[in-house]
Amino acid sequence: MLPESLRERIRPETKLVVITGAGISAESGVPTFRGEDGLWRRFRAEELATSWAFQRDPKLVWEWYDWRRGIISRAKPNPGHLAIAELERLLPNFYLITQNVDGLHRRAGNRKLVEIHGNLWFVRCTREGTVTENYEVPLKEIPPRCRCGALLRPHVVWFGESLDPDDLRRSLELVRNCDLLLVVGTSGVVQPVASFPWEAKERGAFVLEVNPQSTPISSVADLSLRGKAGEVLPKLVEEIREVLLRRHP
Ligand SMILES: [Zn+2]
Repeated sequence: MLPESLRERIRPETKLVVITGAGISAESGVPTFRGEDGLWRRFRAEELATSWAFQRDPKLVWEWYDWRRGIISRAKPNPGHLAIAELERLLPNFYLITQNVDGLHRRAGNRKLVEIHGNLWFVRCTREGTVTENYEVPLKEIPPRCRCGALLRPHVVWFGESLDPDDLRRSLELVRNCDLLLVVGTSGVVQPVASFPWEAKERGAFVLEVNPQSTPISSVADLSLRGKAGEVLPKLVEEIREVLLRRHP
């Protein structure tokens, strides 16, 4: 499956960065919560995932997150997630950057990851900014409150908010220094992640895309593998393992 130009990049010390988007979660049955897919009661995601909506009606926003958390808690990591967790075990210089907030990569076993849009299993105190895990489904109290008495909010990046500057800096550093960039299930239109393949390519990385459809990233990719993450990634990881074994039998 893999061309020689890619095989020769695969070594035990290879710096591999994987970027994932909504496509891999969709294969686990997680809706994108955008457009028609995101309709809940009569609201669209764009009306609820904002700090303005939260200030106006925190209960409504939390009821929506409680519903989403319920759906996600019933979803399972798919073979694509498991293959990416296997890559973390195979290559010490592995890192994952995900745009997904569902926590499925953690459940699959990934620990070296930047969740650039946050994670809806974490909550943040609106007064102190402290972040804690919260896996309660359904929530006992809506809206949930911190021990200090202030409201908790989902630890996710809402429409109109900036990414965490540390997460962004870390991600750019990883992308600019990698040997191989694997981009999975992302449409390539949401910035700043959409620019990452160009950043990597400019500095000589091999850019590999896995997506059922052609995307703006396809034009910069050295290789695009067309198919579902759950079907393509397990085979890809098997090939990577074989190349590594051949080098270090
Ligand atoms: Zn607090």
